[in-house]
Amino acid sequence: MARNAKIWAHSGDSHFIEPDDLWTQILPKDLAARMPWTELVEDGRMERIHVDGEVYHFPVPKIAQKRDDGRPSIVELSGRPPGARDLHARLADLDREGIWGEVVYSSIGIWEGMIQDRELIRRAAAAENEWKVREVQGIGRDRLVAVASLPMRDVSDAVAEARHAAEIGMYAVGLPTPALPNSRNFDDKVPPLNSDYWEPLWAALEELNLVGAFHIGGDASEHTMYSGPGGAILNYTNSTYSGQRAAMVLTACGALDRHPNLKVLISEGGAAWVPFLADRMEEGYRQHAMFVKPKLSRSPKEILYSQVYCSFQHEASAIPTLKEGYRNVMFGSDYPHLEGTYGHTQETLHELFDGQPADVTQRITQGSFKELFPHVSSPPALN
Ligand code: MN
Repeated sequence: MARNAKIWAHSGDSHFIEPDDLWTQILPKDLAARMPWTELVEDGRMERIHVDGEVYHFPVPKIAQKRDDGRPSIVELSGRPPGARDLHARLADLDREGIWGEVVYSSIGIWEGMIQDRELIRRAAAAENEWKVREVQGIGRDRLVAVASLPMRDVSDAVAEARHAAEIGMYAVGLPTPALPNSRNFDDKVPPLNSDYWEPLWAALEELNLVGAFHIGGDASEHTMYSGPGGAILNYTNSTYSGQRAAMVLTACGALDRHPNLKVLISEGGAAWVPFLADRMEEGYRQHAMFVKPKLSRSPKEILYSQVYCSFQHEASAIPTLKEGYRNVMFGSDYPHLEGTYGHTQETLHELFDGQPADVTQRITQGSFKELFPHVSSPPALN
């Protein structure tokens, strides 16, 4: 690959920012008023999140607060690409950056998991998914894969909405990363993901060819778990473990084993951890065999390596994992967020892939993504 040639990549991790009036556009007024919205209070030091009559407060990290020196805050930086809010400007941004296909998550949508009312989330997810097909995927059906919302208060609601999502042309459903049982966000009213309660959902996703998409950082408590020295890096790094737990849970409980055609994507969490986790789970499965149930028909490593896909942004150590035998590694730009590569995507892709064998570059920039979403077209040309 010539140093100045454009490297095209698909992204396993991107976002859109919802319009401020999304809920009133798609839901009756009384329901719309109960959906999540946020405001900055206390002179920008706290974010107040309203969810169906409940109010949650999160301290806004110093770096994200309004600045006195006129330089942009982290929040402004995340919304800076022209296509961050304007979906019609999005494809021009992507073309410039060298991103072709994208898995597109929402933004305010991450708080929907906090809605307790079964009927509210059921109706909101259905309406939102229709909107996403029209307004997000509609911008480029052969390029954008919008992640469907699922009402996870009840398994039969989740299965019904998964069917609806598939019928209207969606290819991936968002799943909540498992919280630690002692974290603030742990919800003991709904069985955890390793429970057999969710078996009908795994069966439905496999049957409908829907990818289960986990995005790290959806557990609000993780963002403020640490304070004091090292806090920023501790919180940032800690948020990635939720993705690893998702892979671990679905492997250990047998969900992926029972449904070998079910594939999951862990977005934004990096990829080099997979071989380590596989070895660790192999060790547990073997050394603690007397305690292990259910027994698996394939080894944990085989299950992880074949059914779990991972996206990373800047992680150079993700590339050699292909040599370890873990091949479901893909690039993710995290557009338009600050953790991502907007504004330096080409620079990052060249840093990562110059000097790499063509098959390695092809696998990570396009091959893994195409395995999950074969309907997405290929970039114009690898020039
Ligand atoms: Mn992301």
